[in-house]
Amino acid sequence: MIARLNSPDYDRWAAQIHRTGGCRQPIHLRGKVDHYDRVTGRLLHRYTTRTEPDGVLRLPCKTRRASRCPACAEVYRTDTYHLIRAGVTGGKGVPDTVTSHPTLFVTLTAPSFGTVHARREKGGKVLPCHPRRDAEICPHGRTMSCTTKHSLDDPRLGEPLCPDCYDYTGSVLFNALAPLLWKRFADSLRRHLAKLGGIALKDLRHHLTASFAKVAEYQRRGVVHFHAVIRLDGPGGPTAPPPAWATADALTQAVQHAARVVSALVPAYDDQPARLFKWGIQLDIRPITLTGDLTDQAVAGYIAKYATKAAECVGTLDRRINPLDNLDTYNLRDHAKRLITECLRLGAIEDLADLRLAQWAHMLGFRGHFSTRSRHYGPTLGDLRAAREQHARDDDITTGRLPLFDEDTVLTVSEWAYAGKGHSAGDLLLAAAITASMPAYAHGHREEAS
Ligand SMILES: [Zn+2]
Ligand SMILES: [Zn+2]
Ligand SMILES: [Zn+2]
Repeated sequence: MIARLNSPDYDRWAAQIHRTGGCRQPIHLRGKVDHYDRVTGRLLHRYTTRTEPDGVLRLPCKTRRASRCPACAEVYRTDTYHLIRAGVTGGKGVPDTVTSHPTLFVTLTAPSFGTVHARREKGGKVLPCHPRRDAEICPHGRTMSCTTKHSLDDPRLGEPLCPDCYDYTGSVLFNALAPLLWKRFADSLRRHLAKLGGIALKDLRHHLTASFAKVAEYQRRGVVHFHAVIRLDGPGGPTAPPPAWATADALTQAVQHAARVVSALVPAYDDQPARLFKWGIQLDIRPITLTGDLTDQAVAGYIAKYATKAAECVGTLDRRINPLDNLDTYNLRDHAKRLITECLRLGAIEDLADLRLAQWAHMLGFRGHFSTRSRHYGPTLGDLRAAREQHARDDDITTGRLPLFDEDTVLTVSEWAYAGKGHSAGDLLLAAAITASMPAYAHGHREEAS
């Protein structure tokens, strides 16, 4: 730390840290950028990392996981918020008229794999978890009743009343199949809409587009739920209105139908019979409005919150697990450990190889994307990043680091090599101090407080 503070290029280092937005594990690049005159071949300008502190340029890691890098996850979260919101209210290339299109906020849940400890509230009062007067005793001698009024931070929340009765196989297989179930849900929804409109499915896109933005959320019990914004547009996306028959009621009907009928099959393996998985019975459908119970802002905030969380909140790990590792060394809670162990066990079964459960054991079997949007939903993460990078480039030009050359007359040749990642212990402390007051952090605290 002292060496860094006293080094002559400290200011330049601090500027690099600022540019990474306080990234906790920045990528180090070594390289150069040359600008040549296309006609004469003369070297006009050279940028090289050789003169940078430690001879490297530091770039943000851009992870979405708050457990790995809070600063980059916050950028991702804010971006996701704006993307979701633009799809509901317009903006960032989406016309304002989109507010008149039928839009629903839908939550698809996982079925039950056994009774778990839960916090129940009614009218602001916490209720007992799972009270049963004549509770049955399970085959393992456990009473299937819990009268505890669990606090919000009770580590037992989401854990089974009897781990030996709990269907761990079902839980991880459901997670593995969830992306397929979602795809089938979306297909079925379109089919049902076509039917409602009296249109052949293949012609639907000439009349209507169903646009989605969805995130996966891990329940405390370790299964994923999907939260989705589903919007009806005209042909080609949000610039055209949907046909008159495609109302919020029609969309609600189609969602209800699709959520009920779709399924995914795990074929029989070893001595186990085939299993059919469906969504849980609980299905939440609410219209999104600008002024009503569920506003665009609430939905966007809600979805963005989950976009930076993975399975860590269940108590598992945020990185891949080597099947040969001794899980005891990870200090996991029993429930998470059993889910991971089940993934590793099933992952070794030939007939289930396609589900790649061992590779995704740390995700408790889920190998889908956390946050996805259909093509016509709105702007993409790439759009927002490109806009931000252009802004940073303009900044470079005004500070004289990148000469402003006309791309038609200047040839740019870049050479980059990966040179490592992260900070030394001293740098990490300094970087945290430098960036503590940066907007990303301030914004994060504001959001949490509200
Ligand atoms: Zn980062
Ligand atoms: Zn309980
Ligand atoms: Zn039991």
